[in-house]
This record gives sequence, C-alpha cells and structure tokens, in this order.
Amino acid sequence: MFYLFLILGIHLHAGAAATGNVPLTVPLDLIVLKNGAWGPETVYPHVERAQRIFARCGIRFAPVKIDYAEAPGFARRPPFDQELAEAVMPGHAKPALFFFDGAGSEAYGEDFSDSSPRKILEYTGWIASQINTPDYVKARHPAYDTVAHEIAHMLCNCGHTSPGLPNLLSGQAEFVNDEVTPQQCEQFRASPLVHREQSVGV
Ligand SMILES: [Zn+2]
Repeated sequence: MFYLFLILGIHLHAGAAATGNVPLTVPLDLIVLKNGAWGPETVYPHVERAQRIFARCGIRFAPVKIDYAEAPGFARRPPFDQELAEAVMPGHAKPALFFFDGAGSEAYGEDFSDSSPRKILEYTGWIASQINTPDYVKARHPAYDTVAHEIAHMLCNCGHTSPGLPNLLSGQAEFVNDEVTPQQCEQFRASPLVHREQSVGV
C-alpha cells in the first residue's frame, strides 16, 4: 500500500490559553488527516478545552504544533494506523494525536513489546470525527472532551477508572466529564511525557 504524505508545519500559539506560570509542560503534535473531517477550526477548541482541564494539574501543553497529512484510503484499523505512524512520526514528537475521519477514538501508552511492529504507536492518540453513538452523545457531560480523555490515557499510561466514578477517565458515557482526581493529577505529573521547565532567573 502506497501513501503520499504531505506535511505542512504550522505552529499553534492560539491554543496555548493563559494557564499561568506552570512549570510542567507536555509538547503536543497534532496530525490532521486531510480527508475532510477535521480542520483547524474544529481541532483547536478541543485542544483549548484540554489545556483548561490539565491546567488544574499544573500541566500546560507547549509547544502545540499542527500538521496535515494526506492519507487516502486510511481506515482506523491495522495496518493503516501503523503505516501512517511510520510515515509521519520521524518528523514529530510524542505524544502525537492523529485526527481521522471515522469512529472509535483511542490512545496507546506503553502497550507493545520492543519487538512488536506496532511499537511505533506507543504514545499516539487517535481522535475520531464521529462520536460512537447518538446515545453516547446524549449521555455525555457537556464539559467532557475526547482529546483530553485520550491525552489522559497517555499521561497516566492507564485505562479507565472503576465503573460509577464520574471523571475524565471513566469508560462510561454517563460518567465521563472534565473532572480529574488529585491522584490522577499525580499520575499525569509523573509521566515521562512531562517536561520539567528549568527555572530561569528574572
Ligand atoms: Zn478511554
């Protein structure tokens, strides 16, 4: 299978909402598949909501970069995701979020052995243009955000929380919202994806 990838680099500053002087940063690479489903105007509001949620843990996303990739015939199943990551990741940092047309958002932490060909997918998130079902849309808390949820999976290198606990990492439509527990904040802050800013003399 041959893909032609076209990468255009645009640095996104607008997404860096005023989050104060927080010392912990996570670089975010956003890769938007140019198949019509996503564009800057639909991607940025998600990132801004994620910025607000993670600011409560003292984490800021910076730098945030957005690129675009041509991926005709892409489908969210192996080997398409792996081939796309192999083609795109050399020019990007992790964590990386891929915005694709379809359903079924997902993120990978340290999920693969060193010998697995899918190792390249570690610390990538896949953001679907379609939400799973109309019922799911109806049940979800309006402050919930899929991008924040998938980033949370990567930062904690963990799955969903126990059933019935309302929070960002719930796996249940009626319990997902924008809340993060103090314990989750600690997990996020301890992630190897977090950069600790050097203090600079003023
Ligand atoms: Zn999840």
